[in-house]
Amino acid sequence: MTLEAIAKQRNRQNLIELIRVEIRCIENNSCIVHFTGVKAHNNNSGNKVSDQLAKEASCDGVLDIAYNRYTKSAVISELRELGLRKWQSEWDSSNKGALTKTFFPKVKDRLATRLQMCLNLSKVITGHGKLRSCLPRFKIIDDPMCPCDVNPQTSDHLIRECTLLRKQRQRLNKIIIKAGGAGHNQTLNWQPRVRSYSKSL
Ligand SMILES: [Zn+2]
Repeated sequence: MTLEAIAKQRNRQNLIELIRVEIRCIENNSCIVHFTGVKAHNNNSGNKVSDQLAKEASCDGVLDIAYNRYTKSAVISELRELGLRKWQSEWDSSNKGALTKTFFPKVKDRLATRLQMCLNLSKVITGHGKLRSCLPRFKIIDDPMCPCDVNPQTSDHLIRECTLLRKQRQRLNKIIIKAGGAGHNQTLNWQPRVRSYSKSL
């Protein structure tokens, strides 16, 4: 890893720059520096010495700290982790988006899922929009029942039981199982389900 970082000219991390300075110093004294990989625990004398020195340094409580700067990438990754934890905690404590939470309980998983958002997908995962179960609240219609007459037309009803969508459900099921999910009747594996649903729209 370190050798790769040294070879990459665009890598300007301080520690790597310091190693480059050391190499240049050695080369200025008419020496040629070569790097080669050695197997660990293979009785290579140089490797044994460096292991020993590293061990001594890590056990030496009074040794001066030679390097205490954070790399930019470490700061970015720590801040990202912190932001993610805060976001997750706000998501967990929010009393909004109950349906969306069933699809995306973990912010981290949602961020890792590439979704092509569209009106229909947003309707299903939020439960808002032109779903009949929603419209009576806005006094647009009185009856929330789905045209199939089984239950009110909610997201869950459309995904799991609407008799008018049998064919689409079979297709959805096939895509879900192919994507590693457990099928539309399972309570788990919403993630592949959402991805698959978006594909089937
Ligand atoms: Zn229905």
